[in-house]
Amino acid sequence: MTDARAFVGLGSNEGEPHAHLTAALAALDGEGVRVAGAGRLVWTPYVGAPRGTLAPRVLNTVAEVRTTLDPRALLARLQAIEASRGRVRDGRLTRALDLDLLAYDDVILDTPELTLPHPRCTQRAFVLSPWVEVAPLFEIPGTGATVVEHAATLARDEPAQQEALKPVAHPPYADRAAACTVLPDRAALDAWRAEQGGTLGVVMTMGALHEGHAALVQRAAAECDAVVATLFVNPTQFAPGDDLARYPRTFDADVALLRRHGAAAVYAPDAADMYPDGPTTDWVPSGAARGYEGAERPDHFAGVATVVGELWRRTRAHRSYFGRKDAQQLAVLRQVRRERGLDVEVIACPIVRALDHLALSSRNRYLGDQERLLARELSTTLSQLGHVAARGIVHDGEPAAFDPVRDLPAFRAYLAGRGLTVDYLDLVDADTMQPQAVLDRPLLAMAAVRLGSLRLLDNRWLAPPVGASA
Ligand code: AMP
Repeated sequence: MTDARAFVGLGSNEGEPHAHLTAALAALDGEGVRVAGAGRLVWTPYVGAPRGTLAPRVLNTVAEVRTTLDPRALLARLQAIEASRGRVRDGRLTRALDLDLLAYDDVILDTPELTLPHPRCTQRAFVLSPWVEVAPLFEIPGTGATVVEHAATLARDEPAQQEALKPVAHPPYADRAAACTVLPDRAALDAWRAEQGGTLGVVMTMGALHEGHAALVQRAAAECDAVVATLFVNPTQFAPGDDLARYPRTFDADVALLRRHGAAAVYAPDAADMYPDGPTTDWVPSGAARGYEGAERPDHFAGVATVVGELWRRTRAHRSYFGRKDAQQLAVLRQVRRERGLDVEVIACPIVRALDHLALSSRNRYLGDQERLLARELSTTLSQLGHVAARGIVHDGEPAAFDPVRDLPAFRAYLAGRGLTVDYLDLVDADTMQPQAVLDRPLLAMAAVRLGSLRLLDNRWLAPPVGASA
């Protein structure tokens, strides 16, 4: 008999919750049960406390187990572990340990002692958020949707739940999540690719990964049968004075993150594997690649287009996921795809931001506390532009519609006044990357600033005021 795959929700809000959860995972990982992975620990407000009562927040996670126990025996094991950690079922609002059997293979069950899947498991962000990390593609029985699809629906319908979560460290067992193969060279990639039957998504990265990259992998995992991530710090897109040698490298943590978010494989070539005849480029920047980053870093897009084109060729991916954070890169890659008549679908994903709204970036780790405060001015200024575009501005004491040519210089001057060097802040067409003088349709406010030796990029869609005639 093959082992069953089951998922357990763990929660604690009494004593030392972290210690309770760690001990529970260790107790679970015993005879007949192997803990295969655990998602991130999240703090969450107590759900369901009677009005007017104050219940301590709860630390939650979800573990995947492989088990030879049947569902009832597994439940009995969970209850025994709860009891051993001092759980008393007397209606109190603190619990040393709360273990719920969320799902067990494709079993659907409705009995007084056990309901499967757990009746509220698709309605709780504190369940879905760590669950996505261990098993994004698990289809919750009877719902016709996967964990990651439920998570996306809940985040859309009840964003407040998601916002109330405070993710913290990963618990033990996090790295045991679903298998992910590291493919060190092209031969390994070819062999792995030959075994893939369905749709393949690719997420290309330079490593030093963060939640922005994780979101691309999650989206790809939700939409494709398999996801391959690539990890390659591409020398040809760096100029001689750039930070190639200093670019952060965190390989093990990167692979762990990719695995947790649903990548089935990670292609991590070295430069010799990527460029057997030495680093080279095969695209001459034109069109969307001309201004902005193209002007600041003349060879950059030739390097990006070459490596992405080659990775499309090697992976033969059906869908390729990129972040809108690098808006010009996205426009350039769409252009390259069109010019070459390639089949791959280019999918743009939203910018992921930190709690202070700074767009996540691998290089943000180099910001000191003071610099970080300054860096926030960039996203704040873009938000401000969004308000002005939607509601208008006071000009010469009179209310006036936003006029990019007249008003953008003041926004640039504001950033410069705060000590940031503004490389550009412009309103552009998101496909052509041509600057626009009139906001008559959704356009992109796109900016790059320098802060010491760091360069920060950010952008934001601006829309004309509702009802304005185009
Ligand atoms: P990089 O590793 O920085 O080259 O980025 C790899 C991919 O992740 C690119 O498609 C980026 O646009 C995307 N990415 C980087 N940062 C973010 C972010 N904060 N939000 C969304 N996507 C991002």
